[in-house]
Amino acid sequence: MSDQDYREFDPNETDNDISDEVIEEVTGNKDSSKDDKKDNKTTEFCYICHRPDNITGPLIKMAPGMSVCTECMQRTFDSMGSFGFGGGDNSKSNIDMSKMPNISFLNLGNLFNDGPKLKNAHGTAKAADEKDRPAPAIDINNIIPPHKIKEKLDEYVVGQDYAKKVMSVAVYNHYKRVATGTMDDIEIEKSNMLMLGPTGSGKTYLVRTLARLLDVPLAITDATSLTEAGYIGDDIESVVSKLLAAAGNDVERCQQGIIFIDEIDKLAKKKNTNQRDVSGESVQQGMLKLLEGADVEVPIGASSKNAMVPTTTINTRNILFICGGAFPAMDEIIKSRLNKHSSMGFMADLKDKYDDDKNILQKVTVEDLREFGMIPEFIGRLPIVFATETLDEDMLVRILKEPKNAIIKQYQKLLELDEVKLEFEEGALHAIAKKALDKKLGARGLRSIIEEFMLDIMYEIPKDENIGQVIITEDYIEKKGGPKILLRTTGLIPEKAAAN
Ligand code: ADP
Repeated sequence: MSDQDYREFDPNETDNDISDEVIEEVTGNKDSSKDDKKDNKTTEFCYICHRPDNITGPLIKMAPGMSVCTECMQRTFDSMGSFGFGGGDNSKSNIDMSKMPNISFLNLGNLFNDGPKLKNAHGTAKAADEKDRPAPAIDINNIIPPHKIKEKLDEYVVGQDYAKKVMSVAVYNHYKRVATGTMDDIEIEKSNMLMLGPTGSGKTYLVRTLARLLDVPLAITDATSLTEAGYIGDDIESVVSKLLAAAGNDVERCQQGIIFIDEIDKLAKKKNTNQRDVSGESVQQGMLKLLEGADVEVPIGASSKNAMVPTTTINTRNILFICGGAFPAMDEIIKSRLNKHSSMGFMADLKDKYDDDKNILQKVTVEDLREFGMIPEFIGRLPIVFATETLDEDMLVRILKEPKNAIIKQYQKLLELDEVKLEFEEGALHAIAKKALDKKLGARGLRSIIEEFMLDIMYEIPKDENIGQVIITEDYIEKKGGPKILLRTTGLIPEKAAAN
């Protein structure tokens, strides 16, 4: 027997081919030396059912000299499932492993034909659907100047001029930096942002609108759900896999996306405690690398990493991080700082000077954030700090009627389909805004209030074809009367009457 013949029967030497093929498929990395090997391919046998690989299909290498066919592997998983270990029928056991953190069971189909596929991995083939995507309102590869970005935001977001201005400049600088890499060898700092502002003042909405205009993927996550790796909850890097999913598994798109981490104030360092702080300070620590730019290994098409899920590397250097939070009690910190300054020397001021300042959050400084419990390294990685305004009655009324997709425009459109004209008296809009202010939910309360009143209208109007116009009155919102209903046949609405 020659050397060549002997090698052909050495199980340790040739069992790599299949798993390497799988890795190539998901990572796009092709090692040319493997091609030579494939030509000399030998028959392998499944360690469990002993069938050859020309019958079973590709084998999965478990250990040197031990490969298993996908059927046996899936059967093993299924039988584990039937004993309550994840996935399958858990009726025989009280343990539901699918609820356990960081443990998930793999559908082997994912590894081969019908699983999630990675697009543009390491700069290989472009996704076919890229061409079909409509042109974005703002092209990140040819970014428009900040004032134009703000103009686009103005179409959707009412007020918040300062926030829109800051964000437009930050986004402009960020994507300029992404497009050019570096500028004159001076590396431009990342434009990560920290946005403070009361609940319902439009923080999430601003970020969503921006991402939509830029046509970049967006992942929104709640800081309270994040923990350090190894604890129950989502580990910090899971936000990156969320972004990859939002980018349709397209690595390039993912690396230019936006991650919004809400309720960041909940990560503040707790005062006077010696206990290990899993969800607060240590999560801030854990996020530092991510914010700055690091290679993160994330699972493809799954939320948690485990040995069997294919992973890919995402670099977060060009991912724009925006952190948001209401920062309750921050106003007290700012007030006491301002009062301390102003009560010194002959510049002494009235102590309650800032008590009525609704937008005191806009005076926030880095020291205030530290005092609140954010660690200096964390604040340092979010160089752009700004606050949204508290919405007042007039702003809420504008939000009801002005944006391109304003709530009342949506209802008007719906009734227009029934050829009914819907109008709101100015007094009615103010009454809705007042109710929203009472709820202290900012603009978030508007929809639920308006829905409550529109339910009857939307239910009753289609019953009667003669109804041509509905006017929502202040009395109706105050529950002192009903809406005004005008019929087509009475000629009260000439254009409708003529149409009939
Ligand atoms: P936050 O994240 O600050 O708690 P959201 O962004 O979730 O608040 O706001 C709730 C809703 O209120 C948004 O979905 C949006 O429809 C509306 N909204 C808030 N602020 C504005 C605004 N300035 N212009 C237009 N709509 C707004």
